[in-house]
Amino acid sequence: MENIENSTSTTNKSTTQTFTIPTEFNAALHAKCPKCRRGDIFANSMYGFKAQKMHIYCPHCEFKFEREPGYFYVSMFVSYAFNVAQMITIAVATYILTGNLENVWLYLVTIFIGVFLLAPFNYRYSRVVLLYWLSPGLHYDPAKSKDDPYKYSEG
Ligand SMILES: [Zn+2]
Repeated sequence: MENIENSTSTTNKSTTQTFTIPTEFNAALHAKCPKCRRGDIFANSMYGFKAQKMHIYCPHCEFKFEREPGYFYVSMFVSYAFNVAQMITIAVATYILTGNLENVWLYLVTIFIGVFLLAPFNYRYSRVVLLYWLSPGLHYDPAKSKDDPYKYSEG
């Protein structure tokens, strides 16, 4: 008598998570939803011919990014802080690279070009910073990053 043990026919549905949850920094870097770290906040890429479009709801957990009307006006202050830091950096870099202290236009032009090129970056990351680090009560929720977030939804 042979007792054939069929170990491969287990019908248990795998409940293991196939998705590795990124660290907070990596999730922010890739502009992922702060709630589940899976869904994209933005619908398109940072640099492209079209203006950046934000998802209204997270495509994964349906978290509403604009928590209240006008929520992203606050991100203008973050963007402003980014701009100031970038202008100073560009000015210092221009000085280090050229050693020029006479030509004001050199500084105005390089700062203008730099700020222009960094505008899409600032637009995106001012919102990401606001959602990740300046929103009280908004934290990562491991239940939301499950493959089926609605099953575990607390409402
Ligand atoms: Zn989400």
